[in-house]
Amino acid sequence: MAVQQNKVSKSRRNNRRAHDALVAANPNECSNCGELKRPHHVCPSCGHYDDREVVAMSDEIELDEDAA
Ligand SMILES: [Zn+2]
Repeated sequence: MAVQQNKVSKSRRNNRRAHDALVAANPNECSNCGELKRPHHVCPSCGHYDDREVVAMSDEIELDEDAA
């Protein structure tokens, strides 16, 4: 195991942690449904990407619950 030779000062430790902050997500509006979605990701509400449906949404498929 590597053992440090010198104590890391509070200042040096805090300077290192100055870059550790999380950045907020930057959502874009979906061009199909207008819902907010992550850029470069399929829209979770309508399944469209690049104005094209790439994921069939389950609510669009007709399910006959009485037949079961
Ligand atoms: Zn959408």
